Amino acid sequence: MTQEIGGFAALGIHPSVLAAVTAVGYEEPSPIQAQAIPVILGGHDMIGQAQTGTGKTAAFALPILSKIDPARREPQAVILAPTRELALQVATAFETYAKQLPGVSVVAVYGGAPMGPQLKALRMGAQVIVATPGRLVDHLGRNDQLLSTIRMMVLDEADEMLKLGFMDDLEVIFQAMPESRQSVLFSATLPHSIRAIAEKHLREPQHIKIAAKTQTVARIEQAHLMVHADQKVAAVCRLLEVEDFDALIAFVRTKQATLDLASALEAKGYKAAALNGDIAQNQRERVIESLKDGRLDIVVATDVAARGIDVPRITHVLNVDMPYDPESYVHRIGRTGRAGREGRALLLVTPRERRMLQVIERVTGQKVGEVKLPTPQQVLDARIRKLTNGLAPLVSDAEGSHGELFDRLLGDLQCSPRALGAALLRKVTNGQSLSLAEIEREQPLVPNAGPQRERREREPFDSAAPRERRAPLPVSEGKARCRTALGTRDGIAAKNLLGAILNEGGLQREAIGRIQIRETFSLVELPEDGLDRLLGKLKDTRVAGKALKLRRYRED
Ligand code: AMP
Repeated sequence: MTQEIGGFAALGIHPSVLAAVTAVGYEEPSPIQAQAIPVILGGHDMIGQAQTGTGKTAAFALPILSKIDPARREPQAVILAPTRELALQVATAFETYAKQLPGVSVVAVYGGAPMGPQLKALRMGAQVIVATPGRLVDHLGRNDQLLSTIRMMVLDEADEMLKLGFMDDLEVIFQAMPESRQSVLFSATLPHSIRAIAEKHLREPQHIKIAAKTQTVARIEQAHLMVHADQKVAAVCRLLEVEDFDALIAFVRTKQATLDLASALEAKGYKAAALNGDIAQNQRERVIESLKDGRLDIVVATDVAARGIDVPRITHVLNVDMPYDPESYVHRIGRTGRAGREGRALLLVTPRERRMLQVIERVTGQKVGEVKLPTPQQVLDARIRKLTNGLAPLVSDAEGSHGELFDRLLGDLQCSPRALGAALLRKVTNGQSLSLAEIEREQPLVPNAGPQRERREREPFDSAAPRERRAPLPVSEGKARCRTALGTRDGIAAKNLLGAILNEGGLQREAIGRIQIRETFSLVELPEDGLDRLLGKLKDTRVAGKALKLRRYRED
């Protein structure tokens, strides 16, 4: 076993959970994990201030799973998440870490899916429930004893939960659990409302926060690129085409990712190698030596394996996966800009990680500007520039014997100088595409995961828009579209509808999505979670003197 796994082992998690973590390829605990795991294992209540990307899910999943009793087929832990996407993600993480724990099962309980399978999983004795509050309250409506055996509870992304108006549901859930339970709360921010919940429902909680000291990264030029997680390798390949680097170090989170990316880059013709904790120390040293002397140009590393690398020719640091915290970001990008040189640091950011980017900017006191994915035209220009730069010093050289050879080849091959030149170019460029059409074909479109896209999805309905743009819009995440027969001919405007739903439904503004007012009807997006209860609350609501009668709307 490598030394780094000792990092997790030393925290005291269950050996089968440790084995699962090793199998996933994590090398060492992230800072929030190192601090939170012993506290949760120790049975204390806890408040953790951490956002997505810090490794917070494993910070509570690993100790909770370590404490589950597989012999008892009843709910023992409940994790509350604000959206169904997060609930699914957390449930999948629990399943991964529980792979080697026979007899432990996890159920995801969220709205918008049939109750049947969820009820069945609960009946079968799932010990871990990962739920959105609305649907969990629906389940409690059927069985008020559902949570009576809970020993551990986690409130994940508590600030988001309150923004979505789940306060009342949370109270119902807290009341349904034994007071003796252990409670853990994670939140990116700790406004007064969250502190109030903690005061009421947690017992002498320990506070955990990763200290964010201001750090300086003066000589390093930084930029970020928005990208979807599954497009990262393609995005890296394109970026490298236009970046002028000497040596580059790319950071990823797992051993497997080091291997995958290094081989993708090798296949593209780069001199690349992986560096991770599984690679023996002497082999690691050889990789670093090769990077120093130019036998390698790219090393794809995990944070652990890259510790202490000091190679002056590194001009670029590419953060393919987000670091866990600003300190490790600063540490990573400090691999460039060595020995008084300038460096460039690039960071890939997925839509969910935007907040981490802001934290990094705050801590480093520098703006990390956005770059766009290079276009095929830019890729072509870069390829031609590199070719020209490579040839320039040779052209300035006297022709020498190669000039004579060229003439001889023209005669032997019976071709024009242009045809011979083209053949030689094809050979030196190793069949690389050097026309726009070929590059467009070879590099499938990688969409920029930019904020514009999300903004467009949230754009309110524009009543002045031409008819064809009135086709049904996709429903926003976590929302359900509902319809009322009231429209502009009934004197309804968006603000009347919004006001009525907010007041009568007891919701926060953020809980309501897009509103579309038409002549004879209107559509409004409401939280999928707890929708039936909300519609029940709004049953007698009247707007502009008429019955609202909201119903779930199904587009077929
Ligand atoms: P989270 O902050 O829980 O959303 O986790 C962010 C990502 O980090 C997830 O993709 C995890 O799989 C990954 N991750 C969590 N802990 C570790 C670790 N100790 N080493 C490597 N990757 C990790």
